[in-house]
Amino acid sequence: MIASQALVVFSGGQDSTTCLFWAKRAFEKVVAISFLYGQKHQKEVELARAIAQQADVELEVMDVSFIGSLSHNSLTDASIVMDAEKPAESYPNTFVPGRNLFFLSIAAVYARGKGIRHLVTGVSQTDFSGYPDCRDTFIRSLNVTLNLAMDEQFVIHTPLMWIDKAATWALADELGVLELIREQTLTCYNGIAGAGCGRCPACRLRREGLEKYLAVRAH
Ligand code: ZN
Repeated sequence: MIASQALVVFSGGQDSTTCLFWAKRAFEKVVAISFLYGQKHQKEVELARAIAQQADVELEVMDVSFIGSLSHNSLTDASIVMDAEKPAESYPNTFVPGRNLFFLSIAAVYARGKGIRHLVTGVSQTDFSGYPDCRDTFIRSLNVTLNLAMDEQFVIHTPLMWIDKAATWALADELGVLELIREQTLTCYNGIAGAGCGRCPACRLRREGLEKYLAVRAH
């Protein structure tokens, strides 16, 4: 095991791109893994490839499209209209059950094969939807489970866990990639890169965070 290597779970979105560059600062060598999980916007992976290339990071793209077909959700099923708001007593239909459980488990097995024990993921408990598999308790629990499952000493790093979108933009700026992330990442649920469609919940959250950060920076 080489302690200074990390594997980043990378989607080409704002959060995981920030994590990719965070990892490049924190570790000697960084590799990344992207998942095709049946998402409607496979353009995500093309953008991820382009960003990984600019970051000089080796990217593994893995087809796990069965994950999307296990449940009904609006990210993988084009016939479902996306929830604009979080329903009162459930999760929005953009929730893909088990996604981070599968992603991180697969990432850990892949990392093990490469002699890597540090895993990096862009999940955030501060995020608007409160997906259960983005919470700190889940990540800690899974970290223990992965270690027990493979008799390893994995460390899952979550640099964005306790920060909001404005602070994520601040981190991108500090890492010198604010413009790259503004222009090249895809967060929009309607599949439009950069500033996106401007209307979906992901675009609103991204824009509000950016405006908040830029206002703070101007002072
Ligand atoms: Zn959008």
